[in-house]
Amino acid sequence: MTVQLLGLTFEKLQNWLVQDLHQKPFRAKQLFTWLHFRRVTSFDQMTNLSLSFRNSLKSNTEITTAENAEEFESKDGTKKYLLQFHGGPAESVLIPDPPRFTACLSTQYGCRMGCKFCMTGKAGFHGNMSTAEIVAQLYTMASNSENRISNVVLMGMGEPMDNWDAVADALEIISDSRGICIGQRKITVSTVGVPGGIRKLIDMEKQYGLAVSLHSAIQKTRELIVPSAKAMSLHQLKKDMLEYTGTTGRRVTIEYCLIKGVNDSTDEASALAEYAKGIPCKINLLIYNPVPGLNWSGPSEEVINRFTNFLYPRCQAVTLRRSRGGQVAGACGQLGISVLNKERDPEKPDPDK
Ligand code: SF4
Repeated sequence: MTVQLLGLTFEKLQNWLVQDLHQKPFRAKQLFTWLHFRRVTSFDQMTNLSLSFRNSLKSNTEITTAENAEEFESKDGTKKYLLQFHGGPAESVLIPDPPRFTACLSTQYGCRMGCKFCMTGKAGFHGNMSTAEIVAQLYTMASNSENRISNVVLMGMGEPMDNWDAVADALEIISDSRGICIGQRKITVSTVGVPGGIRKLIDMEKQYGLAVSLHSAIQKTRELIVPSAKAMSLHQLKKDMLEYTGTTGRRVTIEYCLIKGVNDSTDEASALAEYAKGIPCKINLLIYNPVPGLNWSGPSEEVINRFTNFLYPRCQAVTLRRSRGGQVAGACGQLGISVLNKERDPEKPDPDK
């Protein structure tokens, strides 16, 4: 079987080189540097490796790259990348907010959580991305950007906790100081709350950030927006968040997408304020982005103001985030259009073009 080199953590790479290719352990540092620091895509560029070692790598491994990377730029500078991997099409987004440049990565082809407001949820589940494919998204954007990518969020297509093993290795690789070296505190894992998922992040004993897509603090409303929430009560989710904040000493980000007539009432705001009480957190309010085929819409400015003004004095930190990348369907909940269309009709042009 061909080994996907980009998907091996330093430790796994070293073990594999020693055990399978009978190389000295120091070769791992050299190879890891070429792959993740210099980010070359050809073995011929690895000039400090012997020809026989390079030939051996050529015949046993490959360096995952995205084929036919297409780039769409929004007026606000946000770029969406449509990338082709062996597993299928994937979408990634680069959000400029100098000095911060944030890469939003996908972790699955589609998603099985089925969130009602989300195009990816609508696209259904078409498979997990490999560690190498998750990492390769970041490297494709890094090679296309003049600016150093400072932050990474796993908020693209897919539920990261539903593909945990691949995601955990990707986190380790992209935060490795021998590679692209994105600081652990600059990486955020987003989840809707999968039973046992937050526990796995805690067990890594690292400083990765956690964002929880809550969208309602009333169980019934939440299940309407996030059907997979039936498997996890709000009570359990709060317990897990508290365990995360207690163990890591970090605040959790609570994501709340305001949808007109669904979760934007004062009762909903009150339930959210009550729920957040005691959780060291920041509440991130987003406005629902219209997506084709879904008849929900964002609330009026008046309702948005009423909701935020209710929360401000009652919560530790509340931010209202205007979504970026709307014109290229790279905003929250809008990824996955390509999967949907390409699955149904491979010849159909990208509607975002
Ligand atoms: S919001 Fe996230 S978890 Fe929900 S369907 Fe979309 S990609 Fe999946």
